[in-house]
Amino acid sequence: MQIIPQPDQLRETLNAVFLSGKSVGFVPTMGALHEGHASLVRQSVEDNDVTVVSIYVNPTQFDRGEDLERYPRTIEKDAELLSALNADLIFAPSDAVMYPRGKNNLEIRLGLSSLDRIMEGAKRPGHFDGVLQIVARLFNIVRPTRAYFGRKDFQQVAVLSTLARELFFPLELIACPTVREPDGLALSSRNQFLNSEARQQALYLHQSLSWLQSQAAEGLPTAPLIQAMLDKAADFPLIDVEYLEIRAWDDLRPLDILRAEDRPVALIAAFCGPTRLIDNMELFSQPH
Ligand code: AMP
Repeated sequence: MQIIPQPDQLRETLNAVFLSGKSVGFVPTMGALHEGHASLVRQSVEDNDVTVVSIYVNPTQFDRGEDLERYPRTIEKDAELLSALNADLIFAPSDAVMYPRGKNNLEIRLGLSSLDRIMEGAKRPGHFDGVLQIVARLFNIVRPTRAYFGRKDFQQVAVLSTLARELFFPLELIACPTVREPDGLALSSRNQFLNSEARQQALYLHQSLSWLQSQAAEGLPTAPLIQAMLDKAADFPLIDVEYLEIRAWDDLRPLDILRAEDRPVALIAAFCGPTRLIDNMELFSQPH
């Protein structure tokens, strides 16, 4: 498994791939890989001739300094997993390579308007600006045929679809289903910060989303459903819900009434003790 730190080296390696007309699948990650990441890599390996995985803990998308420092870094273990999955190349650049002028000194700034005012955008100021900065750079370096992202980060998929569409990146963006623990908790690199009590209470997210899904019916108003779900949090003292919203699948517009044609999705962010978790579920389909 080749770990490439330099963009020029990666481009040179991929030039031969492109010249022979082969497709390149790309899975951007921040490392500390788990089965959720593995599912994206498997899909890419199935769909493409060559799969590139980037491992880079992007400093510009962290809104809390301490979170960046304690983010797990496990590149050797990650490389072993990727090799077992038959990925072809790992791109693992340094901060100096990705942000040569320093992460706080960007001349060109990418930003959002409406998508930044809701949910993750509103609660984590600057987060999506950082995501745009890094993903645009990575798309230009890798030039993938297809890029794979997890629906676990539902709003991120909306943001990056907009990036690809509005800036004409010639690639297909593929959103993959959320991988969960057997009890329903969505896999996340942050789950390892949960102690046993918090791990138990973290089930609130999936349990209440599943409950909401079981209640979903054509024509119901969304506000009482959301309130009932918030009321359930009283049984989980470590849980502090940041937002809980029901929005339309395609453009994340808020929904007052459940209608299947809008493909309603419930999205939640909650602190479980000090650890912030997010999850979502489409309301008129099977749990994933
Ligand atoms: P991260 O390393 O957390 O930036 O995540 C890299 C990619 O993996 C993103 O596209 C995430 O949405 C995706 N991902 C993270 N957790 C999961 C999961 N449980 N199921 C599916 N995809 C995931």
